[in-house]
Amino acid sequence: MSKPGTDIARRGLMLVLSSPSGAGKTTLSRLLLEADPNIRMSVSVTTRTPRPGEVDGEDYRFVDEATFLQMRDRDELLEWAEVFGNYYGTPAGPVEEALAAGRDMLFDIDWQGTQQLQESAGNDLVRVFILPPSARALEERLKKRAQDPPEVVAKRMAEASSEISHWAEYDYVVVNHEVEESLAAIRTILSAERLKRQRGIGLNAFVRSIQSEL
Ligand code: 5GP
Repeated sequence: MSKPGTDIARRGLMLVLSSPSGAGKTTLSRLLLEADPNIRMSVSVTTRTPRPGEVDGEDYRFVDEATFLQMRDRDELLEWAEVFGNYYGTPAGPVEEALAAGRDMLFDIDWQGTQQLQESAGNDLVRVFILPPSARALEERLKKRAQDPPEVVAKRMAEASSEISHWAEYDYVVVNHEVEESLAAIRTILSAERLKRQRGIGLNAFVRSIQSEL
């Protein structure tokens, strides 16, 4: 038998990580998913071409523009945005299913998508912005990644400034000096947010059961 009070029903939460490209968000997402079995990645659809090593259905669902626009027009996307000339969007189905079942979802989306989710699902949202320790660190990480051609790196540096300008729209800000430290910070945020009273949909019943025996 489980300990009393450990199985109180809870609504899942939506943990959003945003940052300029190259701030370490993808690595942090991967490490978080490995460390925590109760959170899953929301796999976005995109019209971008896969990078070497990216797996369709895992990193993204890679679709053509017609398919993307059809999904958007049928309201199958919770949010969508155009980033670097490509479309990106979050399929709605898996998200509501997970939240109702008390599972948390992780979103690697930009500020435009975060604003849309805030409007449609604000209470479920926990927004974390990841900053690079410096502009130079960002540039070095983008170059080291070496998967994108130089002109794409230059474009992403230019876009970083506009992405960073939205930092104050987030609930938490993590400066990614060191990956393990940043991961610990994100896990602390997640632990605290899971304990929020509003998410404890089984708390009323639990408290009543205690009171009935007092
Ligand atoms: P990348 O092409 O480097 O994988 O992603 C480029 C940008 O698009 C990143 O800032 C990423 O967070 C954002 N992005 C990825 N998926 C989505 C999505 O479904 N919606 C939105 N709004 N942005 C996304």
